[in-house]
Amino acid sequence: MRLDAPEFTDVDAARRHLEAQRWPNGPVCPHCGNADATKITAMQGKAHRPGLWNCNECREQFSVTVGTVFERSKIALNKWLLATYLLSSSKKGMSSHQLHRMLGVTYKTAWFMTHRIRLAMADDVKSSGPLGGQGKTIEADETYIGRVDVDKPSPQRRGRPYINPNRPKAKRTVVALVERGGSVRSFHVEHATKATVREILFTNADRKSTLYTDESNLYTELGREFDAHRTVNHSGKEYVRHEGDKVVHSNTIENVFSVFKRGMLGTYQHCGEAHLHRYLAEFDFRYNRRSALNVEDTMRHDMLLAKIGGKRLTYRRLGDARLA
Ligand SMILES: [Zn+2]
Repeated sequence: MRLDAPEFTDVDAARRHLEAQRWPNGPVCPHCGNADATKITAMQGKAHRPGLWNCNECREQFSVTVGTVFERSKIALNKWLLATYLLSSSKKGMSSHQLHRMLGVTYKTAWFMTHRIRLAMADDVKSSGPLGGQGKTIEADETYIGRVDVDKPSPQRRGRPYINPNRPKAKRTVVALVERGGSVRSFHVEHATKATVREILFTNADRKSTLYTDESNLYTELGREFDAHRTVNHSGKEYVRHEGDKVVHSNTIENVFSVFKRGMLGTYQHCGEAHLHRYLAEFDFRYNRRSALNVEDTMRHDMLLAKIGGKRLTYRRLGDARLA
């Protein structure tokens, strides 16, 4: 940890650090896209706040936060950078309560910051193409997370809970796929059905890959469309099987789920279902830039800042940020 680095303690150092990540080749006008250094001038003098640039192409002014999740924020940029650092480097995440204490901002502000940062962490799966490919292995699995609604005990049933068979249990379903030695993609779905799982796998996995799953019949039919489909029979207590030089297991995806669940249980505790996809994006972000891929904390943070700078943000009000 290097929490006393200048970008975390000084607002100007934070701005310069963000500028270096967002604009590695010099400032780019967010209004017209002009990147010609001779046509962009730094606004000088006491009348202007530091970090303000003027675009001589479109005659608009801008700073490094324009169009990012930091835009129009009253929170000092060094606090934002500390928040992005903490969230990107803590394996199981960091709660808004903890950030509220560490940053000296209100809980409400910390909550708002973490949700904005999560929004920025989401990988654009459309532009990065499918996972896997020839000779690559994909593991897919589904998991269930969250509290099941506790049903009220019924006197007629002598204190045993009355379970309404027509009411679906409040378990949240997550379907995810991971390329061994590569990236993960996790999705919150209403129900894991053959159709939803098929849609996710066919959009996110190259069918030239070998697919490893458990014996669930969700994958039986779609598995035939992959180069090969191998299953391990978990109900038969089979977890790893050796087939020649191939090791059939779904431990990689189960480890992903295990980190996610421990984080959700230990760190976050309460998570509205409407926000679950953002937490998934947060855990995916860290996994896809994990230290096993030689990404260190500082590097991961800079990747996040570059990512934040590369996204266009639109929002109607503070709590309702959407990425365009
Ligand atoms: Zn411009």
